[in-house]
Amino acid sequence: MRIDIITVLPQLLESPFQHSILKRAIEKGIVEVNLINLRDYSTHKQKSVDDYAFGGGAGMVMGIEPIANCINALKAERQYDEVIYTSPDGETLNQKMANHLSTFKNIIILCGHYKGVDERVRQHLITREISIGDYVLSGGELAAAVICDSIIRLIPGAISDETSALTDSFQDNLLAPPVYTRPAEYNGWKVPDILLSGHNKNIEEWRHEQSIERTQKRRPDLLK
Ligand code: SAH
Repeated sequence: MRIDIITVLPQLLESPFQHSILKRAIEKGIVEVNLINLRDYSTHKQKSVDDYAFGGGAGMVMGIEPIANCINALKAERQYDEVIYTSPDGETLNQKMANHLSTFKNIIILCGHYKGVDERVRQHLITREISIGDYVLSGGELAAAVICDSIIRLIPGAISDETSALTDSFQDNLLAPPVYTRPAEYNGWKVPDILLSGHNKNIEEWRHEQSIERTQKRRPDLLK
């Protein structure tokens, strides 16, 4: 998979891809992530990418020209499955969406800043708008990092124990069961006996029951 992230702050996005699962997935060649500096596509002397809003009001707006130049240059090289804009008024990211996006070959993620992008970008150049929750961030970079993390860990080979991602919360609309590790007893607080029993079938059943119970208690909406 190839992910091209268009941003005015490429440095802000370097670190999330330099550690742990994302780093290894890139090293293994499972995913290629390119941080593209939108300013490189500005035709202004000062490399500016924003301007005052028509009609007045506070805040700058990212203009269509550099964004269109950048997206068109990328599209001239290859076909994209989706051109995503990170936006608080987009569809809220969830596991189902992450599963779907993880099957794509090439995607673009455009990070907004300031007041956001000129509406014509959204109307004509973007195919999907994704929010990571009902709150406003200063820019789309952290949202892009969240989206990428949720996608990349699902690509086969990204996680060494392949089944692990499939037993995480939200797969099958269930929350994950509780987990424990050594010591079996700490401060009088014990690990459930069943997990020490060695009976795999009973353990699986117990985990499934715990998943259902936890989902009923914390997120009954998922069971509907
Ligand atoms: N004026 C806009 C917010 C701009 S915030 C509004 O009220 O809707 C600046 C940029 O941060 C946005 O363009 C978007 O790219 C990003 N952003 C902010 N909150 C986000 C969220 N919850 N999910 C995804 N991206 C977000």
